[in-house]
Amino acid sequence: MDGAQAPQIAPVLILLGPPGAGKGTQARMLQDTHGMVQLSTGDLLRAAVAAGTPAGQKAKAVMEAGDLVSDDIVIAILRDRLSEPDTSAGVILDGFPRTKVQAEALDALLEDTGQRINAAVSLEVDDTAMVERISGRFTCGSCGEGYHDSFKPTAKPGVCDKCGAKEMKRRADDNAETVAQRLDAYHMQTAPLIAYYHETGALVRVPAMGPINEIAASLNTIANVLKS
Ligand code: AMP
Repeated sequence: MDGAQAPQIAPVLILLGPPGAGKGTQARMLQDTHGMVQLSTGDLLRAAVAAGTPAGQKAKAVMEAGDLVSDDIVIAILRDRLSEPDTSAGVILDGFPRTKVQAEALDALLEDTGQRINAAVSLEVDDTAMVERISGRFTCGSCGEGYHDSFKPTAKPGVCDKCGAKEMKRRADDNAETVAQRLDAYHMQTAPLIAYYHETGALVRVPAMGPINEIAASLNTIANVLKS
């Protein structure tokens, strides 16, 4: 190669797991440590709902019911976001893909850019604990840092430890009834992707019932391998 360097191809890491497994928390920690960009289709959809875009108007009631938004809408939103320049640092997909159609669409999108899925991490948790995890969680409305009433409270009530903002918010779909529906949707439509990524060789299983920092350490090791 006469010293010529192969072009750097941005790594792609998928986080799989039911609602409450810690995908968002872990994605943000990976983003902070490794400079890869967190792409959460849930966040992108909530932004579309808040902005009242045509996609957001269609998605709103579906999200409130705890069902999955149509593949067409989600794939289009993800495709647009992936085309933004910051994703060249590598991406952590949080909440996408959630169906086989989305997984196949992602494969096709990445093929176009010469990228591939480097790891699909399945965060392995007990469903029974997820309702408690979800119903206690809240985030900083300014920087997006995630907290939990019992497991990760803020040091000062109502004040973000990370950025100092005082605008904490809770998600409308984080209530017991909607969470049950979201768990059903996960088992029916998303859990089969674990077998899909097992077959492609990308699957890595990470036990995720322990402390946040222990799970983060496992993911850190995986991210270091991806970048080496
Ligand atoms: P999340 O923030 O990942 O928990 O997603 C919140 C809600 O957004 C889900 O319950 C779905 O209604 C919708 N959603 C997020 N990502 C997807 C996706 N990849 N496919 C379909 N619906 C999605």
